[in-house]
Amino acid sequence: MTMTTAPKPRDRRPFTATEQEARLPEGAVACLSCGQAVAHPAPGSLSTLSVWPVNASAAAQRGEALAPSELSVGRCEDCAARHARAVALVTVLGLGSIPGTGEVEADRLDAALAALDVIGHRGDSTAPLTRTPGEARDLIATLAHLGGGASWSARVIGGRGFGLCAPRRWAHVSTGQVTEIGAAYRDLFHRRMETPEQIGPPIENGVLPGCGFCGVGALYVRRSDAAAAWGLEVGVQPGQLGGKPTPDLLRCHLCPACRRAVEIVGAPGMPAVERALLAFADDYKPRAPWRVNFPADTRAWAALPLGTAPNRSPWSHLNVAKLRSELIRLEATGVVRHSLPGEPR
Ligand SMILES: [Zn+2]
Ligand SMILES: [Zn+2]
Repeated sequence: MTMTTAPKPRDRRPFTATEQEARLPEGAVACLSCGQAVAHPAPGSLSTLSVWPVNASAAAQRGEALAPSELSVGRCEDCAARHARAVALVTVLGLGSIPGTGEVEADRLDAALAALDVIGHRGDSTAPLTRTPGEARDLIATLAHLGGGASWSARVIGGRGFGLCAPRRWAHVSTGQVTEIGAAYRDLFHRRMETPEQIGPPIENGVLPGCGFCGVGALYVRRSDAAAAWGLEVGVQPGQLGGKPTPDLLRCHLCPACRRAVEIVGAPGMPAVERALLAFADDYKPRAPWRVNFPADTRAWAALPLGTAPNRSPWSHLNVAKLRSELIRLEATGVVRHSLPGEPR
């Protein structure tokens, strides 16, 4: 069993320590995560950090030969239990990128859980944040970098903490870091409380009130996800979308499905419109648009007269049923399907 202890107050050896650091007791190692001294680390729990001198790059420029110092670190009981929890969660939730692996994901999840640990949430109290793979990934994306940055090993690799430890768990973490973790945690918690709703694109300053291609006026998303769902504003020329040319570009946002078509085709013109329409009409099966005879009135919603209300469902300004019959007819005549680069066959 790993025993943990704080440095003894009666230790009168001279040391230059701040409140964030204390001299590491003889024979102990620092916990690589929370920084406290681990008095009797189990041999299997040790790992080695390679620490380069703080001024390594300047010395290297002067042509001096440099070698990193090796420093043993361990895991205290609390941090070992948290890491084991992360490893188990990666398996249970299937977060490993390749089946049977998941070491990297476990370390990242542990870093996110460590950030929660810094602000006092540990053990079972973190369970509501990791119930599904999506929740665990959200937790990782929000907090892993902050938890990693707050770890004792980050301090050591940054050139501080050699021969030192944190006088108590997380004592080395700055007030600024704690504030940042707290803010990110509140954001995460707030997102979890939200329920999806119908949200339209941002329409300040004359931006069109629907997806420029399919014309859908609202996406069913959480409010905090709406900006990402609608993406960046794009400038489109109605003349290149099946409509009459205008002197100026129209500004709009595109829904995720239409954005994907633009990404595949490379530009927001008619080929991308046809691809997005086809993906919608054909249940998102990849098919080469140039083999389909599109009806002559095929156009993007942004190519309709200014002031046209957005669609309640995608592409409802066009006769999608007619296009579907054309696709069924093509299917029956045995037209060969092709996929474009970047799409599954
Ligand atoms: Zn620890
Ligand atoms: Zn769209």
